[in-house]
Amino acid sequence: MRYISTRQSGGRTVSFEHALLRGPAPDGGLYLPEHWPALDAGTLEGLRGKPYAEVAAAVMALFTGRAFSRARLREIAAESYAGFDHPATAPLVQLGPNLWLQELFHGPTLAFKDFALQMVGRMLDAALARRGRTATILAATSGDTGAAAIEAFRGRDAVSIVILHPAGRVSEMQRRQMTCAPEPNVHNVAIAGDFDDCQALVKALFADAALRDEVGLAAVNSINWARVAAQAAYYVHAALALGAPGRPISFTVPTGNFGNVYAGHVARQMGLPVERLVVATNRNDILARFVESGLYARGRVHRTLSPSMDIQVASNFERLLADLSGRDGAAVRAFMDRLARDGVFQLTGARLARAQAAFAAGRADDEACLATIADVWQATGRMIDPHGAAGVHVARRHASPSAPMVCLATAHAAKFPDAIERAIGIRPAMPPRLARLAASPERVTELPADVAQLTRFVRDRVHAPQRERVA
Ligand SMILES: *Cc1c(COP(=O)(O)O)cnc(C)c1O
Repeated sequence: MRYISTRQSGGRTVSFEHALLRGPAPDGGLYLPEHWPALDAGTLEGLRGKPYAEVAAAVMALFTGRAFSRARLREIAAESYAGFDHPATAPLVQLGPNLWLQELFHGPTLAFKDFALQMVGRMLDAALARRGRTATILAATSGDTGAAAIEAFRGRDAVSIVILHPAGRVSEMQRRQMTCAPEPNVHNVAIAGDFDDCQALVKALFADAALRDEVGLAAVNSINWARVAAQAAYYVHAALALGAPGRPISFTVPTGNFGNVYAGHVARQMGLPVERLVVATNRNDILARFVESGLYARGRVHRTLSPSMDIQVASNFERLLADLSGRDGAAVRAFMDRLARDGVFQLTGARLARAQAAFAAGRADDEACLATIADVWQATGRMIDPHGAAGVHVARRHASPSAPMVCLATAHAAKFPDAIERAIGIRPAMPPRLARLAASPERVTELPADVAQLTRFVRDRVHAPQRERVA
């Protein structure tokens, strides 16, 4: 299995391990497998009823080429999901006659990002060890990504992790999930600024070639291909439980960066029988507008009750553009250049027809999310979080008797106690994992939004790796 940039139409390809270590491609594009591996009916039948970790290892094995043996992947998956606090790992809960919730919040940070980052952390560590290299993970977070990345990399020998968050702009629980990690390889920085300032600092440091080589900068945000591949597994697991491959299944996915729903598209491209893939957004509805009209137009970011979906430019969308364009790299580059220049582009003709055949979409504003949280609570006694509620609201409008509809529940309700209390008048009980943090000491460095000071901080804190190039 070889990987190619979304901005190429052929030519140089790279290995899985290269894509894993590198993050984005050097031409500014994102890596995609050259061909979709097949998940045929026989393979699917063989996975039915298997523990989640086995399904995850089997799906990942289709993408890793020679980088990891099947036995090693099994070990990695078993370790990755051993710390989840539900024996089904990604349990399905029935909400209505043909409507299901897949709970993706039983991992260590209570949001779905643990599914991919627990696997990617171990795979990255193994790849670095093999090369005798070390790396520095650098990322900006508005909340959930930073916590899941720290949880995945804390205490790993070959990795230092530096996470920037905007000072005073993440919730106390989100901050503590990051700053209470005692391991010396974890470095939290509270930046005097907003999330965009953090993001700009990360970009500036990645653009510094000398620093990049010296400390081995690596990216694990959702543009890293390995994260998408790991996420395809829960679509497979849910579909098998509900009757695939003999019966098609639909999914509704609360969406921000388009990573999670793109993983569903990948599972479908591999042969999983998916009837509908529904994109659910909050008021930041650039993706819903795109599916309806083909117009992709960047707007202002609105703050909502579902902050992890408060995104206007969905980085993984470029991968879909490549698929819709028949992997025409020049066309993808032209669209992305237009977006950078004008903040907008329009798909038409065959590309738009393909997009509308592949996805449906809908949006839920804060009022709709609160009403859905209240309604699900009254009808079933379950507390759902505002991101999952956006999904359920949209899913109900796309339900059909011909296929079970699965809504992905991306976070635990207890991460958003204020919204839950507003919806139903009750504060959710604090899960032990979160309660423990309230008494733990925090470690965080405060810095201004200044490239030179952050660069010095990173150099000071990180051990310089041996200089070896990624092959
Ligand atoms: C990150 C996140 C999302 C959005 O996922 P994407 O892959 O960016 O579409 C949705 N819900 C929660 C709780 C998240 O943390």
